[in-house]
Amino acid sequence: MKVCYVCGDRFNRLDWECPTCGFVPASIDGNFAFSPEMAAASEGYEAAFFAQLSTLEAKNFWFRSRNHLIIWALKRYFPQAQSFLEVGCGTGFVLSGIEQACSQLALFGSEVFATGLGFAAHRVSRATLFQMDARLIIPFVDKFDVVGAFDVLEHIQQDVEVLKQMHQAIQPGGGIVITVPQHPWLWSQLDDIGHHVRRYRAEELKTKVELAGFKVLKMTSFVSLLLPLMLLSRLRSRKVNSTYDVMAELKVGRWMNALLEGILTLERTVIQSGGNFPAGGSLLLIAEKL
Ligand SMILES: [Zn+2]
Repeated sequence: MKVCYVCGDRFNRLDWECPTCGFVPASIDGNFAFSPEMAAASEGYEAAFFAQLSTLEAKNFWFRSRNHLIIWALKRYFPQAQSFLEVGCGTGFVLSGIEQACSQLALFGSEVFATGLGFAAHRVSRATLFQMDARLIIPFVDKFDVVGAFDVLEHIQQDVEVLKQMHQAIQPGGGIVITVPQHPWLWSQLDDIGHHVRRYRAEELKTKVELAGFKVLKMTSFVSLLLPLMLLSRLRSRKVNSTYDVMAELKVGRWMNALLEGILTLERTVIQSGGNFPAGGSLLLIAEKL
């Protein structure tokens, strides 16, 4: 079922014209745009980062490892899933990984910034992409088997509302896969520049996910073995001035990148065999819709 982005009416139609108020979403570059007025706005995320990001992601240890973890979570916890929506799909790096690894999944991606969708459209061939502001509404009811948001919720003040929207968009028996940055004490200039509203405590994320109507299946920290390195890097970044390059932490040499990826691969074998890390730069949470 669809939900009208304007009047909230629910309807079953192939097209998007609301039978109650007549609202039809706009189109940007051939993708449905539900909040075109937000498409180029800079609040919450600098759209210009997308260009830098898209060149970094494919080689960078952190993005590559996070993709492996997300794909494992999808296959392990939702093996029967037929459809997947990524909220805040950015440049489509995660979607492209899922596209290659999970051929049975119908893929959907949303992003508030149209710039991101442009990159995603190049990267992912079989995803339906649309521009929307998940803070207002995710215009679907009982539609997807799994909804994912990877390092998105920390940008959003009203995160519980967005989790509730995700809950509504998921079919009975489905669930969510979420990653967020962890530990308020790791807060640094990187979080300011990245327009983060918060870094999560594990209990906080769990409580909010449960409030939205989910039952947590697994929650673990990751980037745990690199936590000392991360802390050092963050302490250093607290001292530098406003010209600090937010991407600097992700731009590492080839050998260092390989070493760090190796460590995160080791860490992932622990997580995949049932272990949970109590602390780490990020949190992974998998939950089912109740
Ligand atoms: Zn309407």
